[in-house]
Amino acid sequence: MKTLKIDHVGVAVRSAEESAKLFSNVLGLEIETELLDKEKLKIIMAKVGESNIELLEDLDTQGTIAKFIEKHGEGLHHIAFEVDDVNEAVKTMKENGYRVLSEPHPGAGGTVVAFVHPKDTHGILLELVERNRH
Ligand code: ZN
Repeated sequence: MKTLKIDHVGVAVRSAEESAKLFSNVLGLEIETELLDKEKLKIIMAKVGESNIELLEDLDTQGTIAKFIEKHGEGLHHIAFEVDDVNEAVKTMKENGYRVLSEPHPGAGGTVVAFVHPKDTHGILLELVERNRH
């Protein structure tokens, strides 16, 4: 398994559109909006060089992101590493005693993703992302 780069930093926000103004209008970054129907999330990706800022807006008031904001306010939600093989990455995490919160499943932009428990990763919710699955 190879860890390639920081794919994105996920930020929990009340309004993706509102938050995107900073990244697009002020910082001049390219943005892309996507709706994840199953997760009831509106996502805006702002491209920063090789990485992205992922603005996460919950469309469900009882959703994970909505609950996160209720508890902590808006802010840093997770860090995502791009890996060459997410299945293998999950296997490696488990073998080393890290709890995986979700088996690999479709993420934004046609990726396959899995999350690792923040209690096992020094308080950082870690997302493993595989792009360009062949
Ligand atoms: Zn993410």
